[in-house]
Amino acid sequence: MPKYAMVIDQRRCVACMACVVACKKENDVPLGDFRTRVVEKTEGTFPQLRMELRSELCNHCDNPPCVYNCPTGASYKNKDNGMVLLKKYRCVGCKSCVAACPYDARYINEEKGFADKCTFCEHRVKEGKEPACVATCIGKSRIFGDLEDPKSAVSIALRENHSEVLLASAGTKPRVFYIKKYGKPE
Ligand code: SF4
Ligand code: SF4
Repeated sequence: MPKYAMVIDQRRCVACMACVVACKKENDVPLGDFRTRVVEKTEGTFPQLRMELRSELCNHCDNPPCVYNCPTGASYKNKDNGMVLLKKYRCVGCKSCVAACPYDARYINEEKGFADKCTFCEHRVKEGKEPACVATCIGKSRIFGDLEDPKSAVSIALRENHSEVLLASAGTKPRVFYIKKYGKPE
């Protein structure tokens, strides 16, 4: 079974937002909603300041509170590929998953009345393609692949670099890993 994951190499992001646009187009994301974003993060205190660009999206957590808090079974973890997905026909739009996600990764598609979020472009992955954001990333900052394959780009990137996940203390076990611009924190 593949274990899909994404690595964000923050050293390579140039904040061109091509990923954000590609995602919206690929997934017909409504105006004002986003499945992924690129945010500026400032660390330190003046004058010792530094800035990092950070792509954010659903972490496809291995311990996903959005799934545990969904009362209808609409949100689920796909056992075949590890992606956290949605059975739209089961969603009642109650927003429990939106509230439970500590990453602000979900929104309600007001046009269609169900919760929505990044799917790792499962429809493309099934066809052997990369997620749209990865395919369009001009800096090669976004890397996608199978953690079970030691030769995959994600496995190599994680082996060769220090990486972190967001909100590790939340216990959600994210599958999106970050290689920080300034390396391992001291
Ligand atoms: Fe669920 Fe949020 Fe984790 Fe995505 S990031 S799997 S929406 S808890
Ligand atoms: Fe489940 Fe839909 Fe409610 Fe989210 S909004 S908890 S997916 S029923």
